[in-house]
Amino acid sequence: VFSMDGDQGPWRELATLAAQSGNWLMIDDAHGLGVLGSEGRGTLAAQGVPPASVHIQMGTFGKALGVAGAFVGGSRELVEYLVNFARHYVYSTHMPAAQACAVSKSIQLVRVADESRAHLGQLIARFRQGAKAQGWQLGASDTPIQPLLVGESSVALQLAERLRERGVWAGAIRPPTVPVGTARLRITLSAAHSEQDVDRLLDALGVCPAVTTLGEAHYG
Ligand SMILES: *Cc1c(COP(=O)(O)O)cnc(C)c1O
Repeated sequence: VFSMDGDQGPWRELATLAAQSGNWLMIDDAHGLGVLGSEGRGTLAAQGVPPASVHIQMGTFGKALGVAGAFVGGSRELVEYLVNFARHYVYSTHMPAAQACAVSKSIQLVRVADESRAHLGQLIARFRQGAKAQGWQLGASDTPIQPLLVGESSVALQLAERLRERGVWAGAIRPPTVPVGTARLRITLSAAHSEQDVDRLLDALGVCPAVTTLGEAHYG
């Protein structure tokens, strides 16, 4: 899941290509883990791709799992290699036991949270429908990362500020984080939001006439 666009890599195609060419694949599932797929198993589960077809799987404990730290998963051979040769791992203080405990508990909680994930899916659909109806340009994302593309950096900053005045926090993302001319508001939905929160966001967007330099003027 791309962190500024919210769209997903085509893992079926990538896995096929990798198998055909004998290359390895690595997935960074920082934004998919805990959010996508049954039990929050991530992007591969959501796309129906066998985990064994992706050789290196990394993820973070700092996003949906709400703790900190990260992992790299793979074959025993790969793991043994990294344990012995990955310098940042070898020469860093290890994860404290308390943190590992918190992560274990978090995984338990996240696995049984399919209801929260369904709720999150409804919020995403509600936001997209409402924002489209107001004429905003959205990204090709069905994840909680919902970019609202406005084009110029100044427009994105202005829009973020107007939302902030109305009690809504959404970051203005500008170059060089994203390509020039594609500044955006990065709307980040969470299972802790309610439908009323999404409506409040849409109301705030609705009274923010925003000129997008990507296309024609949009007036909520
Ligand atoms: C956030 C993020 C990471 C790293 O997360 P940490 O919390 O520092 O472990 C890695 N990859 C992507 C794509 C991310 O968005």
